[in-house]
Amino acid sequence: MDIQLYNTLTRTKEVFKPIKNGEASMYHCGPTVYDTPHIGNYRTFFMNDLIRRVFEFNDYKVNQVMNITDVDDKTIRRSHEENISLKELTNKYEKIFLEGLSSMNILLPHKLTHATEYISKMIDFIDILLTKKVAYIANDGIYLCVEKVKNYGNLAHLDLSKFTKERIVNDEYNKNDARDFAVWKFKTDEDGEIFWNATFGDGRPGWHIECSAMSISVLGPTIDIHTGGMDLIFPHHTNEIAQSESVTNKTFVNYWVHGGFINVNEEKMAKSKNNFLKLEDLLTETISPLAYRYWLMTAHYRSPVNFTFDAIRASQNALIKLISIISTYPDDGMVIEDYRNRFIQFINDDLNTASAIALTWELIKDANIKPEDKRATLLDFDKVFGLKLDVVQNKSAEIIPEEILALADARKIARTNKDWEQADALRKEIESRGYTVKDTDSETIIQEL
Ligand code: AMP
Ligand code: ZN
Repeated sequence: MDIQLYNTLTRTKEVFKPIKNGEASMYHCGPTVYDTPHIGNYRTFFMNDLIRRVFEFNDYKVNQVMNITDVDDKTIRRSHEENISLKELTNKYEKIFLEGLSSMNILLPHKLTHATEYISKMIDFIDILLTKKVAYIANDGIYLCVEKVKNYGNLAHLDLSKFTKERIVNDEYNKNDARDFAVWKFKTDEDGEIFWNATFGDGRPGWHIECSAMSISVLGPTIDIHTGGMDLIFPHHTNEIAQSESVTNKTFVNYWVHGGFINVNEEKMAKSKNNFLKLEDLLTETISPLAYRYWLMTAHYRSPVNFTFDAIRASQNALIKLISIISTYPDDGMVIEDYRNRFIQFINDDLNTASAIALTWELIKDANIKPEDKRATLLDFDKVFGLKLDVVQNKSAEIIPEEILALADARKIARTNKDWEQADALRKEIESRGYTVKDTDSETIIQEL
């Protein structure tokens, strides 16, 4: 069955046509590892995971690449503030980022590329841009001349008449400031030891050239899908297209997919606005990252959603109910084709997870389906949902109360995060309520004492 995706480039939902039959190549703009990601960032990382899982559910061979931005304006500034080397800083936050992915059951991309490992590629690209006279040398760096790029700003629907002849050295700026941007920044006193040698002058890459070089080096000149949050449409992805297509003379990306923001009081969650929450803040409120995952699936990935604790608690309750119901169904059932077909229709329709979740509850209520077949079908759906619906196995015939399952779930998350103290406290709490909790390699078993 066809998969339809909304393509930002054409502003329409399109039938996905792969470059290679049965394969999908994807590049995701990953985290800038200067701080712990907030849950808004994780919404976008979750979207990437969802796309991968939907394609795999459709038997595609997916090749998923995500970059780690380990050198840019923000990482350099923060390493000076914390008085540690750039490498120490970025290693520390990359580890935290990966732990967050695992706690949300986001599959690790097939390849993680670090910007600092591709500097020579970036230098090669800049050489080509200079040779083609699309880029020029200024006193503080090398700039891409946007007027030399055919269709510059198509992705973001830029008004070209607003361009000025000035340049912008910062990596981030808004649409009204669209103008020539830096692909290479010459060494400055603030950058200290962080620079690389290049024939055109020592320095470091701009943020945008990093992704162009990594995507093309690993996946080739044209890829199927490139993703990020909506804030990346301009300037980041706009500039990636300009650089990449100027270097290769080929279409850079066939489908541009952008996710909506997590908002707080209708304003984008952002570090700079100080209105953000981290996954650990959810745990403090005994909300599991998997409940956050469930909540994200109740909305369409492109719609902005407003974060509230009430909404996410309702999702956590729904998830606990789901897990506890499934734990009462026997094994060895069969996937019900009719439900599977309807499920695929939803997820293939631009990742309509909200309808897929509604279908889950419809199946649970369907009196004509045997419990073991419900279990088999729901665990099949879970290949896309990634909610670990089979994680709690109730070996006794008892129905385990919901609050015990919630505690077990919170404990599992604490263990994933290697927070042994919290995991122990949660075990004691479960035991004080008359239940035991035991871990095997693949599952957690809860029984009455
Ligand atoms: P950064 O680490 O700042 O480069 O951001 C990583 C990813 O998170 C990018 O794809 C951003 O577009 C995305 N992002 C940033 N803020 C939000 C938000 N409030 N909601 C959803 N995604 C976001
Ligand atoms: Zn990028």
